Amino acid sequence: MVRVDIDVNGRGYRWPREPVVVICVDGCEPDYITQAIVAGVAPFLAALTEGGTCLTADCVVPSFTNPNNLSIVTGVPPSVHGICGNYFWDRETGAEVMMNDPKYLRTGTILAAFAAEGAKVAVVTAKDKLRGLLGHKLGGVCFSAEKADRVHRATHGIDDAVERVGMAVPDVYSAELSEFVFAAGVKLLARDRLDLMYLSTTDYVQHKAAPGTPQANAFYAMMDRYLGELDAMGAVIVLTADHGMNAKTDAFGRPSIVYLQDRLDGWYGERMARVILPITDPYVVHHGALGSFATAYLPAKHLPDAARRLAELPGVEAVLGREEACERFELPPDRVGDLVILGERLTVLGSSVAKHDLSGLAVPLRSHGGVSEQRVPLIANRRTSDLTANRRWRNFDAFDLALNYLP
Ligand SMILES: [Zn+2]
Repeated sequence: MVRVDIDVNGRGYRWPREPVVVICVDGCEPDYITQAIVAGVAPFLAALTEGGTCLTADCVVPSFTNPNNLSIVTGVPPSVHGICGNYFWDRETGAEVMMNDPKYLRTGTILAAFAAEGAKVAVVTAKDKLRGLLGHKLGGVCFSAEKADRVHRATHGIDDAVERVGMAVPDVYSAELSEFVFAAGVKLLARDRLDLMYLSTTDYVQHKAAPGTPQANAFYAMMDRYLGELDAMGAVIVLTADHGMNAKTDAFGRPSIVYLQDRLDGWYGERMARVILPITDPYVVHHGALGSFATAYLPAKHLPDAARRLAELPGVEAVLGREEACERFELPPDRVGDLVILGERLTVLGSSVAKHDLSGLAVPLRSHGGVSEQRVPLIANRRTSDLTANRRWRNFDAFDLALNYLP
């Protein structure tokens, strides 16, 4: 029986007795951890086979960064918190906009609720795009590795982040940007007795390197060292991911892309349809704004025909109407197009050939967004015998697991 101390978005959470650290490892397909353990470079994670908990959870579809990070820190799906992409078509203003602004957030976070009750809370994110959303109304520390040298006590709850971490601010496209997040977590916990901490990395490495490759194993070896340090300080750790990651190429390593806007323009005339790719964010170099989820707005008279023709395209896994998609994936209907298009595991969905700059793709494309990237790890450094059988765990159960189930 779970004793509830605080209610957030319809769920009860116990007050942390020891520091609780929830970590979102961006793009962490479960196999990255498996392969790092097999290679012998992740001894801390390997030891959790004995003393920890290992579940496989489902992330939110679209399997993108913002919807999932916000689901994890609110404990509810996008139908409740409102963030269903990195990017969307704002029907109210008639503009395509980034969904980075907290004004799009429709509910509070677990972090802010605990801080409001007096908990010491810290959030460190790799990219600054997430800081505003994760730190919404949060009375505590919240900063990004990307802009760690531009923090102020009044706005970030800290004014010496770089000095405290002891690392120079890394390049936004680097593995070190995520290392900075882990290093900051260790340093913050070492100095302050925190109650709750949320760490969120970037998937720079996962977009480039498959599980088990030297670059991937080096990343997980680095992560493993920091996890060991957090564990040694007595933290309860729950690690999950915002989404998985897959190759999106043919056997020669060439990207498999279905250009939806070009197809719709060809069928119904230019600008009759509007294709939105919610993976779009300010950092597109490593994926060219190509993912396996898209949504399209188009005149009602073309909908049945478009749904049928899109579904017939090789590489398209499914085409759903708005209502069906929002029910299946728990999305807010007012922020989703008339059709939702899902790419297969090896295929990404683009808009127009001319709109995608693929010159930054130095290695074969790896990306995410679809149902094929929905399975993610949900791992803890404590063992519990209290887990309900047959529960469908979600990555946004991370705080539930950490606070309500782990000893
Ligand atoms: Zn991500």
